[in-house]
Amino acid sequence: MPAKSDAACKVDRVAERRGLTAIDERLADRWADGESLRDLEAFFNEAVLRAAMTAAGMETIDGEPSNLYRLLTDDSVTAGKRVDAESRLRRNGVDPDAVVDDFVSYQTVRTHLNDCLGVGTARESTFTAADARNTVHKLVSRTESVTLRTIERLCGTGALSIAAPSVTVSVRVACSECNDEYTFSALLDGGGCSCPAE
Ligand SMILES: [Zn+2]
Ligand SMILES: [Zn+2]
Repeated sequence: MPAKSDAACKVDRVAERRGLTAIDERLADRWADGESLRDLEAFFNEAVLRAAMTAAGMETIDGEPSNLYRLLTDDSVTAGKRVDAESRLRRNGVDPDAVVDDFVSYQTVRTHLNDCLGVGTARESTFTAADARNTVHKLVSRTESVTLRTIERLCGTGALSIAAPSVTVSVRVACSECNDEYTFSALLDGGGCSCPAE
């Protein structure tokens, strides 16, 4: 069951190609912590730059990716300084044009949060069980489709062999007070755990 969002989103394509693992969780966490879409844009793009630098064997300590990111993108940076930053990357085997091509805008980050992760970005104060179902459902289908694609890639390299793989992710929630366990949707249906709430 191919999810139609998988083909289109630039965040997904770049994250997969650059090997940015767990980036979705980190974006969602940062959003939940109150960061702005512009903050997330910079966070994602710096991760892209850092991945390119790491892949080329460059040092990524001491805020170097952040500094280079600023030099590559900040409007207040002089053309000379930008050219210096690009040359520094080139000398170390990183193609700055390819990296900048992979940068995303905050609008793209917003679309990714909304459509791929099921995270609303309206900063609404109301959050319902239906929203919760929607959020988790999208993440589950996404995990299933990414897992399936990963299996197919492994099959393509000959590292794995399976005729007709089908991936199912199920989310279970346990209460450590009483040790009862529920599927996510049964928990929402029931309105809570059966043990007396605090
Ligand atoms: Zn996406
Ligand atoms: Zn309980």
